Amino acid sequence: MTDLTNLTLSATLKGLENKEFSSVDVTKAYLQKMEDLRRLNAFITETPEHALEMAKASDEHRAKGIAGKLEGAPIAIKDMFCTKGIRTTAASKILSNFVPEFEATTTERLWQAGAVCLGKTNTDEFAMGSSTITSYFGVTHNPHDETRVPGGSSGGSAAAVAAHMCAAATGTETGGSIRHPASFCQISGFKPTYGRCSRYGVVAYASSLDEPGVLARTIEDCAHMIEPMMGYDPKDSTCSKREVPDLVGALDKNIKGMKIGIPKEYTELVPDNWEPALQFLKEQGAELIDVDMPHTEEAGMVYYVISQGEATTNLARYDGARYGVRVEGKTLDEMYMNTRMEGFGQEVRNRMILGTFFTSAKGYNDYFVPAQKMRSLIKQDFDKAFEKVDVLFSPAVPIKPFTIEEAKHGAAKGRFNDNYLMPSCLTGVPAGCANNGLQVIGRMWDDATVLKVLDVVEMMK
Ligand code: GLN
Repeated sequence: MTDLTNLTLSATLKGLENKEFSSVDVTKAYLQKMEDLRRLNAFITETPEHALEMAKASDEHRAKGIAGKLEGAPIAIKDMFCTKGIRTTAASKILSNFVPEFEATTTERLWQAGAVCLGKTNTDEFAMGSSTITSYFGVTHNPHDETRVPGGSSGGSAAAVAAHMCAAATGTETGGSIRHPASFCQISGFKPTYGRCSRYGVVAYASSLDEPGVLARTIEDCAHMIEPMMGYDPKDSTCSKREVPDLVGALDKNIKGMKIGIPKEYTELVPDNWEPALQFLKEQGAELIDVDMPHTEEAGMVYYVISQGEATTNLARYDGARYGVRVEGKTLDEMYMNTRMEGFGQEVRNRMILGTFFTSAKGYNDYFVPAQKMRSLIKQDFDKAFEKVDVLFSPAVPIKPFTIEEAKHGAAKGRFNDNYLMPSCLTGVPAGCANNGLQVIGRMWDDATVLKVLDVVEMMK
């Protein structure tokens, strides 16, 4: 039999449907890959026994003719999603012993669709970073060059997908954390419109920005993965009641007559395939239109003020009193201090200190409120652009992955690291990265068009 881990998710689903192999077969193949490539440190927790049980159940479902949309497909879950009975750490020491008694809505829906859980993937601690180096469980290595980082924060998921240790994986974005590692690991990533996927059970970083999404080896696979995750959930008040569109069906490879906006602020630095890509889109019949997004430059600062302010509030719950790691002290206050000092890594502590300042009486007026105002102006940039064009097109991350050493010395703070990613997080619009590093951003709720254009972008040789 050919190596089943070479199949895309879509091909895996077809093979399972045609009874060419079983879910147990393909699950075993992925488990073997995970073992062989353990040195990449893509997983924090592997769940092989659980995976095989799920695979067996899945094969029984297929035999009975009751297959879900992802029936039997082995996937990995970023360790920001709470999984019932399976340790969920957010890559932090403070949650290193945390076993949730509940399941995130999005992962629950993946299991209902028949997916098989291979394990929980590495991430920057509380998803704060772009290299996966802030993880308490150590850095993940980029499978294409092990001296380099996979990007982040969903770096474990991206490395696992790129190295064929799973058919697809979940990720989360707050400021680019799916598209960034997708670009660094040469795979596809997609974050839907804010409100499409429930945040219930996803470890909170910055609630007005956090979004569940997916990573896979093709955009078609992303469409297969994300569709069952979407839809209304009464447990998240920001989750939309809109009907979930047919995303896989929307991939018709036809962008004739479509208006594609090229924001000049997103093309200051471009990768080698940029010009050929523009040419390719024109050949496909799209019309390319220059657009201005004048507040792009400010997005980074706005993101850090808002996300850190929200993170301070969200992470206040980790006090050692109720769950997670506790470090004792002589008094209650000392116990809180010891727990938080030892439980959180440096990056998370830095962000909480700044976030506390941004939300203090003075910081609030001087930073938090102006950041919110600037966020509205960034939103206006998008509204204006979408009056003229159907989608925006740009590189996702115009730089190559930095080495682990460079990352330790702050390489991720560079201007071109996530400048092209953050504005779409601040505004909640859908966005994705094709497996050649190019990005498409769409109108609110128009997830289908974003995937459709990205799917065409992946046809480029
Ligand atoms: N790289 C950004 C950061 O460091 C974004 C992280 C994210 O999207 N979770 O916060």
